[in-house]
Amino acid sequence: MTNLNELCPICTEGHLTEQAGGNEVSYKGETRNIALHFSVCDSCGMEQGNAAQTLKNKREMLEFKRTIDGLLSGEEIREIRTHFGITQFDLAKVLGGGPVAFSKYEKGDVSQSASMDKLIRVCRKFPEAFDWLTKQAGVEYNKSKFLNIVSRPLELRNYFSPAKIQNNYSIEAKQNVLPNCANGNKNTEQAIQAA
Ligand SMILES: [Zn+2]
Repeated sequence: MTNLNELCPICTEGHLTEQAGGNEVSYKGETRNIALHFSVCDSCGMEQGNAAQTLKNKREMLEFKRTIDGLLSGEEIREIRTHFGITQFDLAKVLGGGPVAFSKYEKGDVSQSASMDKLIRVCRKFPEAFDWLTKQAGVEYNKSKFLNIVSRPLELRNYFSPAKIQNNYSIEAKQNVLPNCANGNKNTEQAIQAA
C-alpha cells in the first residue's frame, strides 16, 4: 500500500492509496492470479486506476502471455543484449523490428514475435552468427564481452517445449479486487484487451 498524495477525482475529498491485488486472468487455457495495481480512496472508498497503473497492469498481462507462449521475458532480452555489448537502437539495426523495438520488448510494452525470439536465441548460442549479422548491418559491439558471456550458461525459458515452462508467478489467494471499481475496472479491462 502506497500513499499517492493525490486527491480522489470522484469525491474530491479523500486521498488515494495504491494497492495491488490478485486478479484471475486466462490465456490459452491457462489461468493465473496476477497482481494488478489500482488506487482506493480513503474517503469514498472507490477503487480506480490511473494511467501509470493501467500501464503497469498492461505490462503484467503481457509478461503473463509471454510466459505461456514460452517467449523470452523483457529482463531476459535486456540481459542478453547487455551481454552483446550493444545498444537497443543498434541491436534493432542488426535484427530488425524498428528503432524502438528493443526498448518496447525490454520494458514489456510489446511482445517480440516468435521468429524474433528465435533469432535472439540463435545469436546468443552462435557468436559467429551474431558477428556476421553485425558486420552486415555495419554495427559495432563489444566483442570480447560478448564472447566471454556466451561461454557461460544462461537459464532461458524454453520456447521449444512450452509445456515445461515453470510457473514464475506467485499464485495468490483467489480474490477479486476490483468489484466496485469506477475507472479501475474499465482501465484494467482495456489494458488486458490491449495487451
Ligand atoms: Zn473519493
